[in-house]
Amino acid sequence: MNAPDRSVSDHGMIDACFLGPYAENDNLLEKLVVEFLRDHVYWRRNFHPADPPAIPTHAASGIGYQRFESRMRHELHQLSAALKQSVPFHSPRYLGHMVSDLLLPGLAAQILALPYNPNNVSEDAAPITVDLEIQVGLQLARMLGYRNDPRQSDCAFGHLTSGGTVANFQALRLALALKAFPVALRAARVPGLESGHDDREAFNLTPKASIALLRQWQQWLATLPPGERTQWQARVEAQRLEQLGLGAFMARHPLLRTPVVLAPASAHYSWSKGMKLLGLGRAQLLPLRQRGMRTDPEALEAQVRACERDQQPVLALVAVLGTTEYGSIDPVDAFCDVRDAAASRGLGTCVHVDAAWGGYLATLFRNPDGSLRGRDEVGGDFKRFPAPEVHAAVAALGRTDSITVDPHKLGYLPYGAGAFVCRDHNAMALLSEGADYVFHGGETGDYLARFRSLGRYTLEGSRPGAMAAAAHVVHKVLPLDHRNFGLLPRESIRNAEAFHDAALRFAAEISGMAHACVPFPPDSNLVCLAINPCGNSDIGKASAFVRELHDELRCDPQRPLQTREFFGSATVLQLDALDGEDAARLLAALSLQPPAAGSDAGLVILRHTLMNPYLVDHENGISYIELYFQHLARRIGALRG
Ligand SMILES: *Cc1c(COP(=O)(O)O)cnc(C)c1O
Repeated sequence: MNAPDRSVSDHGMIDACFLGPYAENDNLLEKLVVEFLRDHVYWRRNFHPADPPAIPTHAASGIGYQRFESRMRHELHQLSAALKQSVPFHSPRYLGHMVSDLLLPGLAAQILALPYNPNNVSEDAAPITVDLEIQVGLQLARMLGYRNDPRQSDCAFGHLTSGGTVANFQALRLALALKAFPVALRAARVPGLESGHDDREAFNLTPKASIALLRQWQQWLATLPPGERTQWQARVEAQRLEQLGLGAFMARHPLLRTPVVLAPASAHYSWSKGMKLLGLGRAQLLPLRQRGMRTDPEALEAQVRACERDQQPVLALVAVLGTTEYGSIDPVDAFCDVRDAAASRGLGTCVHVDAAWGGYLATLFRNPDGSLRGRDEVGGDFKRFPAPEVHAAVAALGRTDSITVDPHKLGYLPYGAGAFVCRDHNAMALLSEGADYVFHGGETGDYLARFRSLGRYTLEGSRPGAMAAAAHVVHKVLPLDHRNFGLLPRESIRNAEAFHDAALRFAAEISGMAHACVPFPPDSNLVCLAINPCGNSDIGKASAFVRELHDELRCDPQRPLQTREFFGSATVLQLDALDGEDAARLLAALSLQPPAAGSDAGLVILRHTLMNPYLVDHENGISYIELYFQHLARRIGALRG
């Protein structure tokens, strides 16, 4: 069934999406929760309706029962009272981290599914929600521009993770498995599958070539009598990096070197964690130089060339779509070009996109039929977005090898929902715990049958099926195109543009008190603000000043929430890691001296994530953006006092 055209009353739709800043939709949520709780009760009773109740009807009057209930109530009230100190993510006064209100369909679906407690480790424990999770993977694949029809032999595959961190681990694990597998086939002397002249060549195959080998291997296995098949499987298994461990594998293949990962200097720290976890070592995570907070394609090309010269294998090129600190968007297209050019010279590597933050921005670029919108079409809704580089980056997502995206960030779902999506599902066989030799002829049923044992492929074991249900319902209610889900990032980007404009006006207005600037024109919906009080030229003092400002913009468990006007976040801009021109421009704009050699070059700045659709309240004619800057101006005046 086609989704009806819902574009007619955009804003009316957004008004039903969330519980709301004032909990305006309390009735709606309450009705849904009660309705589906009752539904669950009937489901229990209808399992074997003739089984009598095991808990006697008079149990509730027993002393033990009542004591238990009172203890439970006591603790729940304690918890509820304590949680009143929580950060008010739902409020348009919250401009801090990457979180906002929760989508009602996701919240309701999760509450609905929780008492059924499905475990998406396998279909045995989650007959329904495992399929929903596989569908979520396909929905995300479509949004990102990967093939999403399971009948296609190279259809994409995606699954949920606890967050972007674990999705990034999965990307590293898959990249390493794809590199090492052709070497194992050589070592096992599998007839016809000993690719490359030597181990080095085998280790430097492209992901595509490696997946093709894997499929040939599976097809060849299928032709063997069962006994022989088991022998060959064991023989290859014994040579795999996953069997031997990195140390022993490398020792067996002296031509190989531990591969490096190239990622922008500002990449999320999950990359450092991942390098440690896989035993590759943080030293193998090489920072890419950035310009205007995006990876500089020339620096990328130069680094890859340098690796080639040193015969240094490259595990992955990591592009970030929406950096955690600035929302900036790497030139994914250039990453793919560099990957392809390197492959033609014999250095195979993959491109992984860390779109934990920015993944859902792709909905703005997607038509309901799945096709890509042109830059002018997308830009029709905005003042400046999308920069040509941003459009090119999103358009290139389909060329990448794998992508991380976080439904619990711009997907407005509760925490515990990240996702890993890879371009070609065949690669996943290499991550399987236990043999994965489903030989499929391109039928949807085979695809589902293979991945229903999800826990064999994921890093986590037991996994929340309720989360998959929530993501699935959200993606069905709000299909991942610009007409539907895209209305949310549209509000977000519009608010970011309004915030940027307001920040420039603010800078002009407070010029008698302080120098202020937006350090980099935002690519998406995060806007940072650097501030230095007039008369100061020392970076340390400017940072201390902004820290003091920020102290009023965050939770203080010692003080009631209501004393806080606004919530924002802060980050440290490492000036010595910036491109020289960027750093000089920024220092000049703020009237700061360059940091003395050897001194701390970190400049503390304010960081704002603009996710809340009610930052500009049209109903009451209130702009929380304007109120925020008025607040900030007052605070700066008071601090300079
Ligand atoms: C948030 C984020 C991560 C980590 O995701 P979690 O869900 O917090 O584990 C990784 N990369 C980027 C770019 C992010 O913004």
